[in-house]
Amino acid sequence: MTRSSLARMLLRGAMRRCPWCGGRGAFFTSWFSKGPACRTCGLKWRRGDVGFELGAAAMAAVIVLGPLILALGVVLAFTWPEVRVVPMMVVFLAAGIVLPVVLYPMSYTMWQGVDLLMRPVEPEHFVLEHLERSGGAELDSGAVPDAD
Ligand SMILES: [Zn+2]
Repeated sequence: MTRSSLARMLLRGAMRRCPWCGGRGAFFTSWFSKGPACRTCGLKWRRGDVGFELGAAAMAAVIVLGPLILALGVVLAFTWPEVRVVPMMVVFLAAGIVLPVVLYPMSYTMWQGVDLLMRPVEPEHFVLEHLERSGGAELDSGAVPDAD
């Protein structure tokens, strides 16, 4: 069983795709609702752990606060010393409310990429029907299940 590189899995996660197979939407059934497993390959997002949401929350902090801190630095660098604090606060507060909502699913799929790097995938991590349908093709390196 081999996996993609971390960069590739994070990129897939950033596009709200399954980091393992690249399937669209991964395990999300709507923007906020999650099914138990990837709708394409059947990989469960909860693989016997108890803290996946905590990791996803940490990933949310990184992908929301990272760009905000970077933007704050750029704004301060270009407007210093006459910083217009009130308009800046309004924009950043709005971004701080909107970004976590927009990036919610990506915090899960990107964290799943990190989780896949740290904890190898085992056959029991897949929903059984998916494995039987594909003959276990997801477990082979880069294999794409037959389309027939
Ligand atoms: Zn998948």
